[in-house]
Amino acid sequence: MTMNAYQTTNLYLERAFDLLALPERLRTALITPSRELRVELLIELDDGSLGHYIGYRVQHDDSRGPFKGGLRYHPDVDLDEVRALASLMTWKTAVVDVPFGGAKGGIQVDPKQLSRRELERLTRRFVEQISPVIGPETDIPAPDMNTNAQVMGWFFDEYSRRKGFAPAVVTGKPLELHGSLGRDAATGRGCVFAVREVLGAAGKKIDGTSFAIQGFGNVGSWLARLLYERGARIVGVSDLKGGVFKGDGLDIPALLEHARITGSVVDFVRAEAITNHDLLTVECDVLAPAALGHVLHEGNARDVRAKCVLEAANGPTTADADQIFSERGIVCIPDIWANAGGVTVSYFEWTQNTQKLKWEEEQVNHMLEQHMVASHRAIAGTMEEFKCSMRTAAFAVGVRRVKEATLLRGLG
Ligand code: NAD
Repeated sequence: MTMNAYQTTNLYLERAFDLLALPERLRTALITPSRELRVELLIELDDGSLGHYIGYRVQHDDSRGPFKGGLRYHPDVDLDEVRALASLMTWKTAVVDVPFGGAKGGIQVDPKQLSRRELERLTRRFVEQISPVIGPETDIPAPDMNTNAQVMGWFFDEYSRRKGFAPAVVTGKPLELHGSLGRDAATGRGCVFAVREVLGAAGKKIDGTSFAIQGFGNVGSWLARLLYERGARIVGVSDLKGGVFKGDGLDIPALLEHARITGSVVDFVRAEAITNHDLLTVECDVLAPAALGHVLHEGNARDVRAKCVLEAANGPTTADADQIFSERGIVCIPDIWANAGGVTVSYFEWTQNTQKLKWEEEQVNHMLEQHMVASHRAIAGTMEEFKCSMRTAAFAVGVRRVKEATLLRGLG
């Protein structure tokens, strides 16, 4: 039976619970989401008709700090997916030790079908509907798939109109609207630190290592750029429309320019065209899925030729694929650590906003590196302690921290 994203997350969690021998009542407390909100979003479309969309905000856990998690606009958004992503945020914020809990939001919509004005109206309606349960000390959204700094800017504005000036209600804002230097690149940069630490532990370097990257949006494009700058060979990249391949390495600056002009990596002349399936199975050292969830599954996991999977996306590997990778000795750098750079710098943005400060980009990047290196140390120590996979160790690190906070606050 194929598990959905929420079942997959809970399976990984149960493994960590078993390692830590947690009692049943604590397992129930840690697994159960705190609040699930579903909202009906009615907006006037540009042609005068009425658009009707469904939005969600799931707040999973706030024992270590305010709920925190991105906002996704995608046609496949449903309650199970948002639940899974909210839970992942709880463990992710704990793994990198930032003082937040976990939440996630989403609207079931294909944003490419909406005009800019319609997208703005939809965002403002969503803020209106969820404003009773969010706030700078309560729940702080951020960008995710198909949402960006502009969407966060509208979010900040709508909330502030209703409740008074509050830039700390959302992170990933434009720099002109109290965003942080380094936030745009943060998730990709965090992935680079994660893979650097894992390669380093095996006596290897990014320089000369080959990568294939699925997704060329915020995370994938920054990851490609930063790896390229460190001497990596990026052999393949893909997006929604298809992929490109070049065995001796793509010219990433030229590809970024091509994608900026055309809106896609396809038709890049200095490379061979490939499909998304080909991209996931090309010969490379590290495969980095940086788009959707569940793209690595039972049907393609045996064809993967990479030695390592860097989970830049959230939940890209199904439980079946995870099992196959483990049998094949393919190392999975788990999402709850690999892509935690975004929420770490979101924490820095929130801190700057609440203190009315502005930090230099070097300071942001340096502090991000410290969080990623410290969390690697905690994960590696836990792998050693329990002789388990990196994913189970990362969950165990997160669960231990959330468990301690939960017990100290009292189970109620
Ligand atoms: P984005 O919207 O900026 O980019 C998504 C990219 O994926 C685009 O290039 C798109 O063309 C591509 N894509 C979409 N569907 C695809 C498909 N079926 N096949 C191949 N490519 C496809 O989104 P993003 O912010 O870069 O997020 C990507 C992933 O990273 C998501 O899983 C998200 O949850 C995760 N993530 C993002 C952040 C962040 O700070 N943005 C933080 C942590 C995790």
